[in-house]
Amino acid sequence: AAKNKGRNMYCFFTPAMQQKVETHMHIAQDLHQALEDEQFIVYYQPIVDLARRDKVVKAEALIRWLHPSRGMIMPLDFISVAEETGIINDIGDWIFKQAAQQTRRWQQDYLTDFQIGVNKSPVQFHSQDGLHRHWTDYLRGLHMPADSVVIEITEGLLLDDSHNTAKKLLHFKECGIQVAIDDFGTGYSALSYLKKFHIEFLKIDQSFTRNLAPGSSDLALCEAIIVMAHKLGIKVIAEGIETRQQRDFLAQAGCDYGQGYLFAKPMPAGDFEQLLKAQQYTADTDE
Ligand code: C2E
Ligand code: MG
Ligand code: MG
Ligand code: MG
Repeated sequence: AAKNKGRNMYCFFTPAMQQKVETHMHIAQDLHQALEDEQFIVYYQPIVDLARRDKVVKAEALIRWLHPSRGMIMPLDFISVAEETGIINDIGDWIFKQAAQQTRRWQQDYLTDFQIGVNKSPVQFHSQDGLHRHWTDYLRGLHMPADSVVIEITEGLLLDDSHNTAKKLLHFKECGIQVAIDDFGTGYSALSYLKKFHIEFLKIDQSFTRNLAPGSSDLALCEAIIVMAHKLGIKVIAEGIETRQQRDFLAQAGCDYGQGYLFAKPMPAGDFEQLLKAQQYTADTDE
């Protein structure tokens, strides 16, 4: 047994690990080609106004990678690799521009104040210095207001201020680009930062919305977050709403917006447009 143990010490890679490392390497290599060949697709998931009969008023842009041989690859399977290789900045730039152009068209055709959420990982956020200027210039070029875009960042970014996060967020704010804290509640929520940073939205993580029931601690937490956020002038979006019951609990608690499979899954731009069209038609016939 001792011998076995000794041997194992030199066995750094199990086959599973080996497989993982290889996949990782392939992904890193393929990402450059993907960008060149435009293999990425932007999916859009509706965000609804809970106080206006679940009207679709915003969307979140979510990246997908249609790989020529591996098929559809989800963001969690390649974003971290893209961050390590640095190509995340180019990908982030691409998705921002795609989403902005699309949003412009939807603002013109359906909803003048339609807003789009774009995710920014901490690596991206810190490695691009003049991002706020670059983004506002681009939006101005499209003749759209800067507050058409909401940048979604995670809590972790706010905890460590060694990179001047507060200052960078203030730059976005001054330019008119809004900020949402994504996956709220999953990090080490130091509530003091909500006061320190200029934030327009909190997105309650789906781990809280999943188990909502009368008297549950998750419901108490959601209610408390909503009250606190509102007192600070922050609007709340609940993520991962899958059932009518969850939706009703959150609406009852005063939650402003909802996002989740109950309303719709993330979808290609064409399908999203059909949704906006149908909604406009219903609104017209209602009046
Ligand atoms: P996120 O920003 O928190 O996005 C929400 C995720 O929850 C999406 O997964 C969405 O499809 C999923 N979701 C929405 N409603 C429901 C629901 O009712 N039930 C369940 N079970 N899931 C729901 P997705 O698209 O796989 O994205 C995962 C994460 O990848 C995102 O989490 C975000 O952190 C990251 N990501 C996506 N697109 C980008 C991007 O363009 N740039 C960066 N940096 N990260 C991105
Ligand atoms: Mg997000
Ligand atoms: Mg989220
Ligand atoms: Mg998430």
